[in-house]
Amino acid sequence: MARESGDHKYIFITGGVLSSLGKGIASASIGMLLQQRGYRVTIQKFDPYLNVDPGTMSPFQHGEVFVTDDGAETDLDLGHYERFLDRSLAGINNLTAGQIYHSIITRERRGDYLGGTVQIVPHVTNEIKNRIYNLSEDPEVQIIITEIGGTTGDIESLPFLEALRQFILEVGSDNVLNVHLTYIPFIKAAGELKTKPTQHSVKTLREIGLQPDMLLCRTERPLSDETRRKIGLFCSVDEASVIEARDVKHIYEVPILFHEQETDKMILRKLGLPSGGARLSAWRKMIQDMTNPEGTVSIGICGKYIELKDAYKSIFEAFSHAGIANNVEVQVSWIDSEILERESDPEPYLHDIHGLLIPGGFGERGIEGKIEAVKYARENKIPFFGICLGLQCAVIETARNLCGLEGANSQEFDKDSKHPVIHLMESQRSIKKKGGSMRLGAWPCILGKGTKTAGIYSKKTIEERHRHRYEVNNEYREKLEKAGMNISGLSPDGKLVEIIERDDHPWFIAVQFHPEFKSRPLQVHPLFESFIQAALVMKRTEKETAGARDN
Ligand code: GLN
Repeated sequence: MARESGDHKYIFITGGVLSSLGKGIASASIGMLLQQRGYRVTIQKFDPYLNVDPGTMSPFQHGEVFVTDDGAETDLDLGHYERFLDRSLAGINNLTAGQIYHSIITRERRGDYLGGTVQIVPHVTNEIKNRIYNLSEDPEVQIIITEIGGTTGDIESLPFLEALRQFILEVGSDNVLNVHLTYIPFIKAAGELKTKPTQHSVKTLREIGLQPDMLLCRTERPLSDETRRKIGLFCSVDEASVIEARDVKHIYEVPILFHEQETDKMILRKLGLPSGGARLSAWRKMIQDMTNPEGTVSIGICGKYIELKDAYKSIFEAFSHAGIANNVEVQVSWIDSEILERESDPEPYLHDIHGLLIPGGFGERGIEGKIEAVKYARENKIPFFGICLGLQCAVIETARNLCGLEGANSQEFDKDSKHPVIHLMESQRSIKKKGGSMRLGAWPCILGKGTKTAGIYSKKTIEERHRHRYEVNNEYREKLEKAGMNISGLSPDGKLVEIIERDDHPWFIAVQFHPEFKSRPLQVHPLFESFIQAALVMKRTEKETAGARDN
C-alpha cells in the first residue's frame, strides 16, 4: 500500500564494516546541520536487539541508559541527538526489535491475525515502517533521520533494511537519502588506505536492494582524490558524496568537519530542498571555547564501571559543557569504589581532586567505598555532587557518621538494616517486573526558598529526569536535618526528597534525579556549571594555601 510522504523527507543512516564508527554522532551532526539551515529535524534510532529496551541491560553490555522526559529508557545515541539538536526527544525516537516482536506477538495472542500466518514480511516490516510514518505525524517535522543500529550484514538488522527498501518504494526515492557510514582502514605495511571493506559493505547493502547516495568514510588519514574516485566508482556514489569523516579530537567538531565538505548542502540538494544559510556561529564559538581553555580542574568520579566511559556518557558530556561555561578543561579521573573499600585510607586516591562526583548505579558492589568517599569529601570540604545513588550514599554516610545510626543502609543493599534510611518507594513495593518499572522520566520538584540549589537554578520549580526505585525514608528526615543535611528539593506533595545540601560545606549537593540528561553544549546544566565553579575555587584556595606554606 503506497503512502503519501506529504512534505516529509527521510534520511536513513546505516553502518558498514564494523561497529563503534560513530553512527550516532554522524546522525546527530547531520541533524544539527540541517536544523541550523532552518529545517525542523527529528532523529530516531532503530536497535535490532531483542530486548524491549536497554533498561534491563548491564552498562557493560550497552553503556548508559538514556532516559527521556516521557520516561523511556533508551539508547545512549538519543543523548547525542538531544545534545546536538538542543531539543528533547521521546520514547518514540527509539525502536527495538524487541518492541516490534512484543507488540506483534501480543496482537497475535489476542487473535488480531486470526486465520493468518504472522511473518517478518509483511508484519514485522510494516511495524518498522509505521514507526517512521508515526514520526511524520508531527506537523512541524520536515526531515526525519533514521539511524539503523548494528552493521550491514548482521542477521538481526535484515528486517530493518528490508523495511527501508519497501519504505523507499512507498514514498518515492526523491524523498529519501541513503547515507552509509563506513571505515577506510590504513594498512601500515602497505602505507595505504584500503577501500575493499567499504566496497563489500556497499555490495551487501545492494544485495538487500539499498543503494547508498552518500558515503561517510571514517578514516585516520586524509582521503586522497584518487581514493575518493575509487570508492565512488566501485560503490556507484558520485565522488563529491564520498565524505571524509576523519578522526577529530572532540565529537562536537564533527558537524563542522561535514559542513566544510558541504555535506549539508549536498544532502538538501539531493532531497530537492533549498538550502538557506547555515547558522553555525554559536556552535563554532562553543568549540573555540572548548579547545582553548584557560586552565584545568580535576574531578574524581567514584563508581564501579570505571573501565567503561560509555556507562557515564551523559555525565562526561555534562562536564565538558560545564568546562566550556567556566573556561576550563575538566579532567575526569575515575576512582574505583572497590579499591576504596579495600584500602583503609582513601586519602591517596582522593587528595588530588578538586571535586568528587558519585553517579547513579545499582547493586551492592563498591557501595562501602562510595560512602567512604562521601565522608572524605564532606570532612575535607571538597565539592561534592551526588547523583541518584550518589544522594543515597550521602544520606547513608550522614546517618551513620553524624546521626549515630549504626548500620544505617539502603534496603537495596541490606534488606534487614536496623536503620533503612533509604527504602523502596511506596509505589514500587508491589512491582515484581524488572523492565520499565522504575520511577522514570521527568518529575517536577519544588526548590526550598533561600537554599543554595534554588540560587543555582534561579527557579522555584524544576523538572528533572529520574530512574530509580529507592528513596529517602521520611522517618529519618528530622534526624538527618538535625545533622546539617538540608532538604532543598521535594516532590510537589512533599513526600519525596529530591535534593539535599549542606550549609557547613562550600558545595555539597546531591540529587535523586539525573541532571546530566538535560545538559547541552549550548545550554549547560546549572548544577554542573556551579559544581565546576566550586571546584575551581577549591583549586585556587589550595594553590594559595600551598603558596603561603612555601613563603
Ligand atoms: N539503585 C538506586 C535505586 O534504584 C539508585 C538508582 C540510580 O542511581 N539510578 O534507587
